[in-house]
Amino acid sequence: MESISDAFIAVDNNWIITYWNKEAEVILGKTRTDVINRNLWEVFEDAVDTIFYYNYHKAIREGVSIHFEAKYDTLDMWVEISAYPSTGGLSVYFKNVTDRKRIEHQVQQMYNELAAQTKKLAASNAELEQFAYVASHDLQEPLRMVSSFLTLLEKNYKVQLDDRAKQYIHFAVDGAERMRQIILDLLEYSRVGKLKNKKEAVDLNDIMQELLLLYRTQIEEIKADISIQSLPKIYAYKAPVRQVFHNIFSNAIKYHNKAVKPSIGIEVKEEETHWLFSIKDNGIGIKADYHEKIFVIFQRLHARNEYPGTGMGLAICKKIIENMGGKIWVTAEEGQGSTFYFTIDKN
Ligand code: ADP
Repeated sequence: MESISDAFIAVDNNWIITYWNKEAEVILGKTRTDVINRNLWEVFEDAVDTIFYYNYHKAIREGVSIHFEAKYDTLDMWVEISAYPSTGGLSVYFKNVTDRKRIEHQVQQMYNELAAQTKKLAASNAELEQFAYVASHDLQEPLRMVSSFLTLLEKNYKVQLDDRAKQYIHFAVDGAERMRQIILDLLEYSRVGKLKNKKEAVDLNDIMQELLLLYRTQIEEIKADISIQSLPKIYAYKAPVRQVFHNIFSNAIKYHNKAVKPSIGIEVKEEETHWLFSIKDNGIGIKADYHEKIFVIFQRLHARNEYPGTGMGLAICKKIIENMGGKIWVTAEEGQGSTFYFTIDKN
């Protein structure tokens, strides 16, 4: 009992202290000569009618061992206690757990702060999404007016307009058309995760066949080799899943390298909790500095006349995948092709 790391004390059936080890002396600040053969509740008058008093009596009365943690106010200390009754009285093991309690308290406080912060963030996020939705929705109507009056101007005043004026109108119409596309993309982005139809069994092989059909002309034009592994059937929201495959696959075609024969490979690996998909191309690749940026809305690496697009495709993919609890990333090197990876939970 002197060599164990716990404090240990024993009392007989009349609460007379019969044993008091060294650690008990350290923790409670009383030497054994002070306490041996004295009544526990006389030595610790301050503990009468506290949880210690109640639990020790209960252990003896009911003949059951009791384990509990409690604060001993007199010493401002948390203790963890195990009390074992026997025919001769009660044996009590205990240790000072104040440091652990303090840390637990701090962790709990941090957790509470984090939970409050998360709640605030979620609210402001929802507000922002609502804003993006309303803004993009309401911007469409005035934009439609601009486009249609420009077209009317061109049509009805053809004879009065010189070539330069017509060119200006052409630029303005082109700008309005681009703006329309941006607004549509933004609207789509803000809608991700909102419109929830029913989950359904989605055969990803069917989705890829649809995409091959949709892109047949481009694929033939650039003479791309496309290999697709047998893909699984998953249970998910079909439209967003299709969108992810669509955006990444169409990028693999769009950003092909003209100097080599385009080759695109779609593979899947079954992991314990999720499917890991990869779409690999041997296209123009992406500098390491941009591997994360390309997933941010409106981030593009090329001028519009080089490659068309608004820079929203991958941002939409990221939002969809993360909404479903997955991850999306790219490995790529400039000039050496890119591989886009994403995970979808099997559950
Ligand atoms: P968009 O294609 O409309 O520009 P995305 O969000 O789909 O928008 O892509 C963002 C940027 O990431 C693209 O502008 C392009 O620079 C780069 N990128 C995407 N996919 C590929 C790819 N397969 N190979 C090379 N670059 C790519």
